[in-house]
Amino acid sequence: MQATHDRETQRLDVLAELDILDTPRELAFDRLTGLCRKIFRVPMSTLTLIDGHRQWFKASNGMADRETARGPALCSFAIAQEHPLIIPDTQHDPRLADNIFVRGKPFIRFYAGAQLKISGAIVGTLCAMDTRPREFDADAVSMLTDLAAIAVDEMMLRNLSMQDGLTGCSSRRAFRGEGERLTALAARHLSPLACAVVDVDHFKQVNDTYGHAVGDMVLAAVADAARCALRGSDVIGRLGGEEFGILLPHTRLDQAMGVLEKVRAAVAATRIETPAGTVSVTCSLGGAVLSPGNCFDDMLRNADLAMYGAKQAGRNQALAWVDRAPSIAPTARRVFKAGKISFNAGHSTIDCTVRGLSRDTATIEVLSTSGIPDQFKLAIAADALSRACRITAKADNRIEVAFT
Ligand code: GH3
Ligand code: MG
Ligand code: MG
Repeated sequence: MQATHDRETQRLDVLAELDILDTPRELAFDRLTGLCRKIFRVPMSTLTLIDGHRQWFKASNGMADRETARGPALCSFAIAQEHPLIIPDTQHDPRLADNIFVRGKPFIRFYAGAQLKISGAIVGTLCAMDTRPREFDADAVSMLTDLAAIAVDEMMLRNLSMQDGLTGCSSRRAFRGEGERLTALAARHLSPLACAVVDVDHFKQVNDTYGHAVGDMVLAAVADAARCALRGSDVIGRLGGEEFGILLPHTRLDQAMGVLEKVRAAVAATRIETPAGTVSVTCSLGGAVLSPGNCFDDMLRNADLAMYGAKQAGRNQALAWVDRAPSIAPTARRVFKAGKISFNAGHSTIDCTVRGLSRDTATIEVLSTSGIPDQFKLAIAADALSRACRITAKADNRIEVAFT
């Protein structure tokens, strides 16, 4: 059992180092799943990464979702073994008798998944799926394995990339590096440092109404508008799909909020000419400053919480994070651990990933916060930890808890 936990811990460490979860779609990976579909003549192919609580698709072809629960995912079965998992007919596999992805959408009848192996850990799979049973011969297995190896090479290369191709912003990795560097500088010179998280409002509607290509043009225009409102020494990075981060060196919170208001107004005033006509969008912003003893991740998380506050307050606005409870708790470490939430006297359990941990608090990510009560138990198997928790803040799919 301990060996399984150690393996999972190492796996999540490699995945954390890769810093790929929730990053935007990229053509190189879309091409690979597209190729899989063509070569193997299947309707579905995904490049899947297995997080603590979910499977997340870096690329997917023929699938509606971007992520699903980890437990029943066929890719979860695949990462438990070293060699490609080939299931010619899921209806003949006793493990999958009540599997929700077999009995329900997307009705997987055939599955072939080759492992993505990085630094000795299996982080996910490249897989081909069909709604009909089929055979997959040795040549096909060997081709799928080669394509998975190309995906791994591409992931490693991509890690070196400092710039986001679509918007010209810093990549998430580069933004983080710059954030950590500026945090160290600010702490050493006791100079203020502010950061912000910017999220485009109702962006899904833009994609749904005008299509993905127009959505991409809108993102590039939002980034341009934001950049024009900033100074040359400020840093803007693309944190995820339609989410950007801004670093404002030598800037206090009140000054930062002035800048964010400028960014907000610039985005709202931008008329984006697209083949589908003129489109405009708004964004919600959250600002925060580096507090004594905090690390870069603390500041970014605070900005993120403020951004969710701005969403809840009606969008198209900038809110500042204010330290409600002067923290007596030591700052949280950034971690990456698989966990389980349980309530109802242990009758209900939900998988989660623990992203931050301190002596008294944890930051947890779940697929959905609905149905989770204010008090529950959190277990982290790898640490043999089990603590009673109370929710202190909730934003999107993230929960902040205090141990009770
Ligand atoms: P909210 O105001 O609450 O932020 O609503 P929203 O619709 O913006 O939020 P949600 O997070 O549900 O939707 C974000 C959408 O962004 C979903 C996803 O398909 C889209 N998206 C993510 N990355 C890209 C991209 O690179 N290009 C395009 N066109 N769309 C993307
Ligand atoms: Mg978003
Ligand atoms: Mg949004």
